[in-house]
Amino acid sequence: MRLIFLGAPGAGKGTLASTIGKEIGLPQLSTGDLFRDAVKNGTELGLRVKGIMEKGELVPDELTVALVRERLGRADTAQGYILDGFPRTIPQAEALASFQRIDGVVNFQCGDEVVVRRLSGRRICRSCGAIYHVENMPPRREGICDRCGGELYIRDDDRIDSIRNRLRVYQAQTEPLIGYYRGRGLLHDIDAEQTVEKSLAQLRKVLKKLRKAG
Ligand SMILES: [Zn+2]
Repeated sequence: MRLIFLGAPGAGKGTLASTIGKEIGLPQLSTGDLFRDAVKNGTELGLRVKGIMEKGELVPDELTVALVRERLGRADTAQGYILDGFPRTIPQAEALASFQRIDGVVNFQCGDEVVVRRLSGRRICRSCGAIYHVENMPPRREGICDRCGGELYIRDDDRIDSIRNRLRVYQAQTEPLIGYYRGRGLLHDIDAEQTVEKSLAQLRKVLKKLRKAG
């Protein structure tokens, strides 16, 4: 099964992709991981990505598509895969369609206010990297890591103005993909404002239906 997962930052799509991927035995392919692997392995594409990221620039579509295409040619994707974070734009989706047939696109719906509450409550330990949440998983003592006693901080990405900015970028670039895939009869909506367990149950139903259809 060849799947694409769409969702705003904070919708939880990465976590759900990782959990369901292990469950059904499909690799979760995120562009972040693809970039990091290519850089680490020092491939020709990787060296180009490295140069661009070091300058703090965005990796152009053409290069991202080339990396994805190369990755989808490897043996572990023979039974399918979950694309997490790609395509991000209509041109990327069109490029993907030119060399892959997708079976389904899952859209994790999550309102802006839920995203803001989830992400802005996140706290990270400066020493050991443990992740907390002021509402859902608070540390025993405010601002202090339970595990190692380190100081908890807010990542720049999780500050409210930065979250709002990420949401604006998502809405401008990626949301058009919802209509694009809906128009092709591929889109399945999941309510991602529920608990992870409930979203997972809904996702399992969608995948079952897709497997029958395939
Ligand atoms: Zn810690």
